[in-house]
Amino acid sequence: MDKRRDWGFFAAGAWHMPASQAWIDSANPTSGKVWARVPDCVEEDVNRAVAAARVAFEDGPFGRMTATDRGRLLRRIADCLRRNADTLGLIETIDNGKNLAGIQGALKGWLTDSFDYYAGLADKIEGANIPVDVPGILNYSRREPFGVVACITAWNSPLLIAIWKISAAIAAGNTVVLKPSEFASVSTLAMMEILQDSDLPPGLINVVTGGAETGAALVRHRGVRLVSFTGGVSGGRAVALTAGEHLKPLILELGGKSPQIVLRDADLELAARGIVAGIFPPAGQSCIAGSRVLVHESLHDTLVERIVALAGKAVIGDPASADAHVGPIANHPHFERVVRAIEAAKAEGATCVLGGNVAHPPDCEGWFVEPTIFTGVTPEMAVARDEIFGPVLAILPIRDDDHAAALANDSDFGLAAGIWSRDSARALRLAHRIGAGTVYVNTYFGSAPQSPVGGYKASGYGRENGIEGFLAFTQSKSVWLDLDPIQPEPFA
Ligand code: NAD
Repeated sequence: MDKRRDWGFFAAGAWHMPASQAWIDSANPTSGKVWARVPDCVEEDVNRAVAAARVAFEDGPFGRMTATDRGRLLRRIADCLRRNADTLGLIETIDNGKNLAGIQGALKGWLTDSFDYYAGLADKIEGANIPVDVPGILNYSRREPFGVVACITAWNSPLLIAIWKISAAIAAGNTVVLKPSEFASVSTLAMMEILQDSDLPPGLINVVTGGAETGAALVRHRGVRLVSFTGGVSGGRAVALTAGEHLKPLILELGGKSPQIVLRDADLELAARGIVAGIFPPAGQSCIAGSRVLVHESLHDTLVERIVALAGKAVIGDPASADAHVGPIANHPHFERVVRAIEAAKAEGATCVLGGNVAHPPDCEGWFVEPTIFTGVTPEMAVARDEIFGPVLAILPIRDDDHAAALANDSDFGLAAGIWSRDSARALRLAHRIGAGTVYVNTYFGSAPQSPVGGYKASGYGRENGIEGFLAFTQSKSVWLDLDPIQPEPFA
């Protein structure tokens, strides 16, 4: 599989070379070696992809499909991806260092279930008959697709993010231009190659690759009617500015600094395991990584001891190996950022009680960082505030539930939170006080196609998954019919 390949971009059901004739190296983070090249698409390529999506929406077979047929198509896509889950999962592992068993399992089950979920929903969204205060009028609402939507994704989970977006977008009747991250585009391109076996209507899903410039060209394109973006705060802000300038609706799924709150009555072993599992397996590269532990002061030392003991046992290594627990950092620029953040935490006076170093697992020349835990952290420190997006955990003591809520909410972010307590009512009272789009109690990291996800505050707006995630890809129209029309007197 580690055979170098130059990919094209995908538009109108065919592969194309980029007009720039320029490619971007894609490196395997486990080996540190370039293993593929993806096109550096320019405006001309973006125009081609958007035009293909426009034709598919307006004139292609997809645009004429009934909602039930769209559901059938989504099920075919799910089946095709499941059949190819092993190959596709391996490609993602090589391209961005994702745990192989995890991504292959997801592609065979809960992740591709998104297509089945939205397949079922495609023909069930009803409008309303609205009793307006105007005699003789029939007024009703209907949900309509936007047309061509742009889906821009991050490098940490290219397939997951793409599948969440395209399953809802297509079910709602839109056509898609997808742009994965320049650091991990290969699995998305490989998905398109695989989907050619599922009778995918040409132009329904198109993929352009490239960096911020390519993304910006897509966002400002006149033919794109809605943008769904997953990425970091600075990319999100840039996209929001461009979308604002062009008055385009936008769904933003951004980063987080999610707190894991351990109340005085928590089951400590459960909490310790949940906290370790909530950050270290993907080397912290999950938007909802629980990177800030807020623990009752009476439990602080015992919890730290347990977390350090558990995380200290993690085997760092090749994500394709069943023996490795923690894989690499997905790309070199980000690896350098994570290392800098760890050094900064040490410099600002936090105490490193585990890790804190670059790791060199056997037979891996790539970019690995040890699971790292800091205590003695104060709320003002960068390690308590900034999203590091690496295997770095900051632990802070709390006095009581009010203090927990105050510290949890003292963040620009609001993506997720975890609460560990034996008292469910108390945990739920606290859950309702926390400004986050998802709150887990005595569990962490779950997701399901039925349940909406998204952020509060700088973690974004709009929701993915669930019925909300479907409606986000539709717009509402109000239709008026006069049942007993009388010629109006224009200037009466
Ligand atoms: P990023 O913002 O650097 O890039 C994301 C995507 O946006 C890439 O495809 C990139 O090429 C594109 N892009 C960047 N600038 C752009 C611009 N000006 N115009 C158009 N497109 C532009 O993010 P990243 O480093 O790839 O991903 C990591 C971030 O993503 C983390 O902050 C993480 O928390 C977040 N994330 C969020 C979720 C979620 O669901 N909330 C899920 C995964 C990752």
